[in-house]
Amino acid sequence: MRIFILLLLTTLLVIPVNAQETSVSPTVTPGDTWTALAYRYNLPEETLRVANPQMNRQRQPVIGTTIAIPEGAVSQNGRLLRRNDGDLLAAAVALNTSPWTLALQNGMPSPYRPPLYRPLYLPGGAEPPQDLPSGITRLELSQAPAQPGQALGVRGKLWEEGMVTAVLDGNEMDIFQNGNHFLALTGTGAFYGSGQPELTIRVDDSPLWSQPWQFIDPDDWVYQQITLTGEAAQIDQESIARERERLNAIWQQNSPAPQWQTAYQLPITDYLEITSPFGARRSYNGGPYRSYHEGVDFSAYGGTPVMAPAAGTVVLAEKLFVRGNAVIIDHGLGVYSGFYHMSGIDTTVGEQVQPGQIVGAVGTTGLSTGNHLHWDLLVDGIWVDGQAWLNQGMGCWILEGWGGDCEIGDS
Ligand SMILES: [Zn+2]
Repeated sequence: MRIFILLLLTTLLVIPVNAQETSVSPTVTPGDTWTALAYRYNLPEETLRVANPQMNRQRQPVIGTTIAIPEGAVSQNGRLLRRNDGDLLAAAVALNTSPWTLALQNGMPSPYRPPLYRPLYLPGGAEPPQDLPSGITRLELSQAPAQPGQALGVRGKLWEEGMVTAVLDGNEMDIFQNGNHFLALTGTGAFYGSGQPELTIRVDDSPLWSQPWQFIDPDDWVYQQITLTGEAAQIDQESIARERERLNAIWQQNSPAPQWQTAYQLPITDYLEITSPFGARRSYNGGPYRSYHEGVDFSAYGGTPVMAPAAGTVVLAEKLFVRGNAVIIDHGLGVYSGFYHMSGIDTTVGEQVQPGQIVGAVGTTGLSTGNHLHWDLLVDGIWVDGQAWLNQGMGCWILEGWGGDCEIGDS
């Protein structure tokens, strides 16, 4: 009897696997277009749109949100091909199948009259069908939903080499390519807010692909009121602007390959506390919260070592007006980290630094009111949250997208 029940249980457990379990409200991933979901669940696109009145039917389903699938619908594996739009014969050759079979599977009377704007569908395989940009075989986002202020990445692989462009909310992302691998990087700034900006990708002159990306503002920002008196209130605005302009010129440069091989680590281990996180809203002398903190502040005793968070090349090592003793490291791929207000500098421009290598010491030089380290991180010329970068393992995520390996960091 016990054996019989066991057998029965085993059988019951096996059934859902064969039937390819139904997911009632899956999270939308890149390539889950209305067309892809219609093929996947064998339902008309209109049925899916009606079941999801929260979605804008003029746009594709929003990446990072959940989508309601009518009860009873079963997920099926398959592939959608847009690469060979209008070229069914080439697709059949590439997939080692008969053009007549392919035509039949796509409801076409003959392989010699292929549809113009419809993807080719091939049932079977190991994955549900994804409607990816033409020419792209794999596409991933660093996070979905995304959070304003954090570094954002898109990584993927191409069928064959080609020029990729990626645009988020109208802004072109930094693009880096390594053979068939590509990476698109950017940030939004901490004031970006919640929304569903359009992510648009294309390879060479292929048709534009686009899908909205869910952004959620955590609304847990720190608010800081700062009172400037005496000398600090008379800060020379022109000097501030000139310094920023000079640094902007550095941050706009892109070294085309990553210089790091490990996970990133904190630039300081012996700190007392984080006195101001990235994105903290700031009001000066009772004014509106019109600016935010562009880095992370660590309070620490003067002289505490400051270390390179990852390998890179030192591109600035000098005393600045606002930032005091400053070091900026170019990590490659448009990723820069900077260390400011230090008491001293232990590196020189051009030096290739290793992760954990000491580049300076905590101090209170420049416009600073006490010993602390201000660490900033830029991607695509935009300040991003360094703590989130570490927590999300962005360093390794990007390296893997580049087609490289990530050695574990030493901390
Ligand atoms: Zn700061």
